[in-house]
Amino acid sequence: MRMLLCLPLLLVSGPANAWDTTPHQRITKAAIDTLPKRFLTQFGAEIAPLIEIYCLLPDRYVEMQRFGFVRRSPGPRSASEIEVYCIRPDGQAMHGATGVRDTDIGSLVYLFERMVSTFSQNRPGEAARYAGVLSHFIADSLSPPHAVSPEHLLGMAPPSAETGDINIHSAIERSIPEFTLGGREPRRAGAHIVTAAQAILERCYSGAARNRRDLPSMVKAACARDEQTLDVYRLRAGMEAAEIFADALYTVLRIEEGVRQAGPGRPARTRRSAPQNAASQSRHWAVPPVELPIVLPDNIH
Ligand SMILES: [Zn+2]
Repeated sequence: MRMLLCLPLLLVSGPANAWDTTPHQRITKAAIDTLPKRFLTQFGAEIAPLIEIYCLLPDRYVEMQRFGFVRRSPGPRSASEIEVYCIRPDGQAMHGATGVRDTDIGSLVYLFERMVSTFSQNRPGEAARYAGVLSHFIADSLSPPHAVSPEHLLGMAPPSAETGDINIHSAIERSIPEFTLGGREPRRAGAHIVTAAQAILERCYSGAARNRRDLPSMVKAACARDEQTLDVYRLRAGMEAAEIFADALYTVLRIEEGVRQAGPGRPARTRRSAPQNAASQSRHWAVPPVELPIVLPDNIH
């Protein structure tokens, strides 16, 4: 049975309804900058494109697939080129939280599993692209206007005579000040892929709930063109997204590290059985579950 979230989190429908390019890049960079060096080296030359290009793949996919628009900047030139990273084998788009828990957990589990598997197979280019989609998914889930329906958002605005030509939605999420996570160290979100995905999703939902509570103040600031106040909310949402992404990435890399240390042909031993729905999740997909190395070995914490 599907559990619906009380919050009417939006289906992320397109580039006009999401963080703009720079916020996505800043959120991704802030998270990546906190990773231990041994994990950064695993990405090799893919760090720069992960920050500049891959964290935008879901938007670029929608632009090309739905509108036939191809950006002039470096990156993919066709939707088919990046479909494998943005669309699950069962056809579900991975762009941001939908608010349907089963769907969102499935997307996170899928992205985590793909990253572990492609890293294990020494394919950092693919792993980095999945990481970019993960960054986008988390960031858009915490984009403040996404916490309510478009109708609800419009209803918060004063009459149009007072707002003029302001697009409330894009006014809130079009920018974010530059930021870092300082000395924060990334934390493990769970011992295996499924529990980590559940923990990460709860944090996305909780961040969205906080955004929703504060949206009336953000709308008021947007209508008053009060960028200073908006920046406070943008920073809070962006920093939280970066922390969640950093922890998700760190967790995936720790799991992959355990798989590598276990050696070829020796999948990581499990401390306890994976939740049953891990196996059932992967059965919905056409791709093989690739040994689903979902649990850390006993010696990895
Ligand atoms: Zn987006």
